[in-house]
Amino acid sequence: MKYADLHLHTVYSDSTYTPQELIAASVKAGLSAISVVDHDTVEGIAPTIAAAKKENIEVVPGIELSAEYEQSEVHILGYYVDCANKELLLKLAKVQQNRIDRIHKITEKLKELGLALEPDDVFKQGTGGTVGRLHVARAMVEKGLVSSTYEAFQKYLGDKGPAFFLGFRVSPQEAVSLIRNAGGVPVLAHPCTLHNDELILKFISCGIMGLEIYYPEHSQGMINLYLDIAKNYNLLVTGGSDCHGKGKSEVRIGSIKLPYELVEEIKAAKGGR
Ligand code: AMP
Ligand code: ZN
Ligand code: FE
Ligand code: FE
Repeated sequence: MKYADLHLHTVYSDSTYTPQELIAASVKAGLSAISVVDHDTVEGIAPTIAAAKKENIEVVPGIELSAEYEQSEVHILGYYVDCANKELLLKLAKVQQNRIDRIHKITEKLKELGLALEPDDVFKQGTGGTVGRLHVARAMVEKGLVSSTYEAFQKYLGDKGPAFFLGFRVSPQEAVSLIRNAGGVPVLAHPCTLHNDELILKFISCGIMGLEIYYPEHSQGMINLYLDIAKNYNLLVTGGSDCHGKGKSEVRIGSIKLPYELVEEIKAAKGGR
């Protein structure tokens, strides 16, 4: 049997794993195919493909776009996007700048709460790709403001937290169009984080082609419900561990092993269904 993990991050967004470390961990986990889906960037794809050259691992190019719907984040995965697509790269450059501006807003909010953190403390955590809340959380741990990244999200940075700032994001419709125009397959990431199953139907009407059903936080009940929806709406079934290396409390790679046939179905759906 061949297995895949289609939701992995690198240092080009907010994982601690370099492409080389990610490939080494993938080999150890017994994976035959992986997808790098960094937040709002495709910079990690080429280095990961290069790192996989000597190993028998297929790297599916991907992205995890952050969209905004009614003041909340909605993550949309794009598999097999063309990493050289001009429209996509132009949009990503703007989003990258928005993410930098957002860090200033978040640190201002933290300051108002009495927590001294400079934007540079946060930028130091990154390696030049996109910056986000996990970098803020790590900087807070380093400064001794919280004892764990978990605590940082629980107390301050979570979606309803006092230091949360959404910033400008694309709409789900726009995210789907960007991915489709770049030849990719749009998939709704971790539907559990929506906390509202009706929204799944809403995003299907935006042109989503698949659901990320196998995910560490999904209970068997959720999986069964999402499988029913996928069947009824003729959607692709995907999954992955959302491993951030050592950036989160546990290293998750290997916790989700997707049958490789599902990768072939996504591949076959490229360019429209
Ligand atoms: P951003 O794109 O900057 O909004 O940050 C997204 C990152 O924050 C992703 O890695 C999420 O998994 C992580 N994240 C969001 N909410 C939480 C939470 N409550 N606890 C831990 N990580 C979270
Ligand atoms: Zn992340
Ligand atoms: Fe996500
Ligand atoms: Fe993710």
